[in-house]
Amino acid sequence: MPEKRKAQGGAKGGAKPVRVVFLGGLGEIGRNCACIEVDGRIIVLDCGIMFPDPDMPGIDLVLPEFTYLRDHADQVDGIVLTHGHEDHTGGLAYLLRDLKVPIYGSELTVGLARHRVEEAGLGNRTDFIAVKDGERIRIGACDVEFIPTTHSVPDACAIAFHTPQGVILHSGDFKLDLQPVDGRRTDLSRMGELAQTVGIRLLLSDSTNAEEPGFTASESSVGITLRRLFASKPDKRIVVACFASHLHRVQQIIDAATANGRKVATLGRSMGKNVELGTRLGFINVPQGAQIDIEHVDTVPPGEMCVISTGSQGEPMSALSLMATGDNKWLRIGQDDVVVISAHPIPGNEWSVGRVIDELHRRGAEVVHSGTEAVHVSGHAKAGELQTLMQVTKPECFVPVHGEYRHLVHHARLGLGMGIAPANVLLCEDGDAVSLSAKGIKRDGKVPAGYVYVDGTVGDIGHGVLRDRQKLAEEGVVMVVVTVDNHEGSLSCPPVIETRGWVHAPEAEEMLGEASEVVGAAVTQALRDGARDVEVLSRHARKALGKFVGDRTRRRPMIVPVVLLV
Ligand SMILES: [Zn+2]
Ligand SMILES: [Zn+2]
Repeated sequence: MPEKRKAQGGAKGGAKPVRVVFLGGLGEIGRNCACIEVDGRIIVLDCGIMFPDPDMPGIDLVLPEFTYLRDHADQVDGIVLTHGHEDHTGGLAYLLRDLKVPIYGSELTVGLARHRVEEAGLGNRTDFIAVKDGERIRIGACDVEFIPTTHSVPDACAIAFHTPQGVILHSGDFKLDLQPVDGRRTDLSRMGELAQTVGIRLLLSDSTNAEEPGFTASESSVGITLRRLFASKPDKRIVVACFASHLHRVQQIIDAATANGRKVATLGRSMGKNVELGTRLGFINVPQGAQIDIEHVDTVPPGEMCVISTGSQGEPMSALSLMATGDNKWLRIGQDDVVVISAHPIPGNEWSVGRVIDELHRRGAEVVHSGTEAVHVSGHAKAGELQTLMQVTKPECFVPVHGEYRHLVHHARLGLGMGIAPANVLLCEDGDAVSLSAKGIKRDGKVPAGYVYVDGTVGDIGHGVLRDRQKLAEEGVVMVVVTVDNHEGSLSCPPVIETRGWVHAPEAEEMLGEASEVVGAAVTQALRDGARDVEVLSRHARKALGKFVGDRTRRRPMIVPVVLLV
């Protein structure tokens, strides 16, 4: 492939190597974040969050680790965003506490990002700079070019970094939708032009759907399904849940509704905000008089109403979940309703979505989802599109990004199949750094890139807290309070055992009594041996109780000894 290239991406033998550091998104879907380093200057590419796995009890979200960026804060010139999804922008509100640099992206992208940063009260920490499709701007030590792509949020971009080592192209999240709702296609011709003129030295590309053969269907196909569906339920109220940032989906729902003479209303805070933003920026067009406030939903006959709602992922406090449990302030779901879930559960959310669907059935509603009708298509390229991108961009080097490990592996294989030299295809993970020089690409060390857990407003919590929560959730807790008379060197009273989630106490009184005796004996023995220190006595109590609990029940609940010297 490289033989057709006219110049090696403008790479100059004398120029310093360019580094790419992956802080997140390689090994999981979420918390996408990378650094492009040219001449000692850093551009941050995306800064996203990950939603917690079921084995992270109580965690609200997971961030990339910012240690590396904090340590090099004075070298960072800006943050470039590929698109407005939370797995690419949700971490900004946290990163901006440490960095004060401008944020660049398309108009809608910075609009969505600004919402989140302002919500966190950091709106005045930075400048949001909107760039146009195809615009090329200077940030720090290199030129950055924004190339339009299609994805499940409008106004997405691939980013070409014009570095002294040639062009590094990051695909962003993308698909090759030939009939996008807004007519704005992925600009393959510009990418091809770059490949044919200066050459693309390194491609970083979206691996989400690399395992799936073929091509992702066009977003506009969903509109066709929705119109047919809406027309076939003339007497029913229709409630459609989708991602609030998926403005093309929202537009198609509005189109299907109004084509059938229905009014529309939004439900859920982010849906209302995004429709307002989308309307202001011209991404959404609601016919005059078609939108009503959700407060007035009951004044419209079911067959003339369509509600567009958040909660397509079964999030517990979302509008759809509250509808399912009968707790929504505005909407009572019943036999007159058809609920359409126009989304696919993100891995980990299947159970929550399933439960919401079940509850909706219990209320008598009809439920339509991607398993029953073509009411959703992916926003990510499948194997055929990924290969097409490689064919157009003809990269010298390739690193798959944005995916769980298996997605990265499959994408790397696609790259090899497209003829990229094996030495130039690197399978990287979070924390890996690579450097690009005239000689090619090579690994260039590691940086800290652990999961940073955010828990409510408390802030970051450590692995230890999470481990404790898992243990509490799985095994429960047994607490023993031992009161020691310091003068006498003996127990003041028998140890008191309290438990939650280990055994049901009223039925296990006998066992709890025995446990008290066992702990009492162990502490008494320690006291006889001269121990008076709270720490030492606690250790004896913990050991005795832990052994007893383990022997009797084959469980390992958390053991909490409390020793009081009186
Ligand atoms: Zn995305
Ligand atoms: Zn993404």
